[in-house]
Amino acid sequence: MLEKKGRFGIYGGQYVPEILMNAINELEEAYNRYKDDPEFVKELNTLLNEYANRPSRLYYAQKMTADLGGAKIYLKREDLNHTGAHKINNVLGQALLAKKMGKTCLLAETGAGQHGVATATAAALFGMKCIIYMGEKDMERQALNVYKMRLLGAEVMGVKDGTATLKDAVSKAMSEWAKNLSSTHYCLGSVMGPHPFPTMVRDFQAVISKEMKAQILAKEGRLPDAVIACVGGGSNAIGSFYHFIEDKDVRLIGCEAAGRGIDTPETAATINTGRLGIFHGMKAYFCQDKYGQIAPVYSISAGLDYPGVGPEHCALFAAGRAEYVAISDDEAVRAFEYLSATEGIIPAIESAHALAQAMKLAPTMAKDKIIIVTLSGRGDKDCAAIARYKGEKIYE
Ligand SMILES: *Cc1c(COP(=O)(O)O)cnc(C)c1O
Repeated sequence: MLEKKGRFGIYGGQYVPEILMNAINELEEAYNRYKDDPEFVKELNTLLNEYANRPSRLYYAQKMTADLGGAKIYLKREDLNHTGAHKINNVLGQALLAKKMGKTCLLAETGAGQHGVATATAAALFGMKCIIYMGEKDMERQALNVYKMRLLGAEVMGVKDGTATLKDAVSKAMSEWAKNLSSTHYCLGSVMGPHPFPTMVRDFQAVISKEMKAQILAKEGRLPDAVIACVGGGSNAIGSFYHFIEDKDVRLIGCEAAGRGIDTPETAATINTGRLGIFHGMKAYFCQDKYGQIAPVYSISAGLDYPGVGPEHCALFAAGRAEYVAISDDEAVRAFEYLSATEGIIPAIESAHALAQAMKLAPTMAKDKIIIVTLSGRGDKDCAAIARYKGEKIYE
């Protein structure tokens, strides 16, 4: 859907201060030079396979299928990747690119800490310095991930600005990057920000749908009827959709976090409740207050707790090619418990948003239809918070 450089329809672009233009131009040139370079592709594939444990399995969820009584459900098991989520796919790509560019330091933002841990992991592997910006409120809530990042050798810097959460960590990371351009690569964690990030991160995550397509053709001899994934910034979803965009019979369904409901201010459902705006280097939909300021967002899932969504999703939505539904905290928690008890798989609470949609959709479809749900991550990290949500107290 890329029509003009860095644009998806009217969305995307490069809305950055002048001081960052050189850096994003340098990054774009390097990415264009290496992305099809056989040596780079080979090195990245080796890392993905040998280190991150790809290809990930496409698992037929037989008990869930039988219980829901409709379409056949397959799970794309990104939860089985090293570090427990899809984020490693992107991070290994960017770290390898940074190394080729002669950078010695990886800088990143993190919300729940998952992207920070993945970036710190890659930095350890590549022998690079690593600095992670994280809202101070998130550091308190995610103490275990702060510990892991430091264990992996990263410096974790608290961000006090604004609401001291993810959006403030992104803003801080961008301004700190501008101060250390020659040595540092900004390893952005989702399909957002200024071009080339939305395209580059999508390309690194597109391995998900590339594998999915080959795997479903091998197992079923045909394409799925629907692909469902959760949407924060949108990287696991666009990775799951990408190789099906031209297959018009495949429904593409993104699941946003409704939080306590899209008719309340406590939501993170950007496409369902947001408006067009420009923030963090891109034109896209953002949750905004009545003055057009970025609104504080809320979801039980820290990984979906971002007030924007990547520009390619905005374009897929505007073109009617993909649908975006909102799933509440309650629905996600029910799906979290359901998959655990039914298939013996504890999903990330983010991924549970996608599962909740599959639980609604499957019973309305015939038994010869096929749904693939991307399980973006594993749920060990969420057990204490879900227990709390259910009024149980456990010691971590
Ligand atoms: C970070 C994260 C997400 C949300 O990020 P996207 O860029 O929208 O994919 C979803 N699931 C898990 C497990 C995550 O760690």
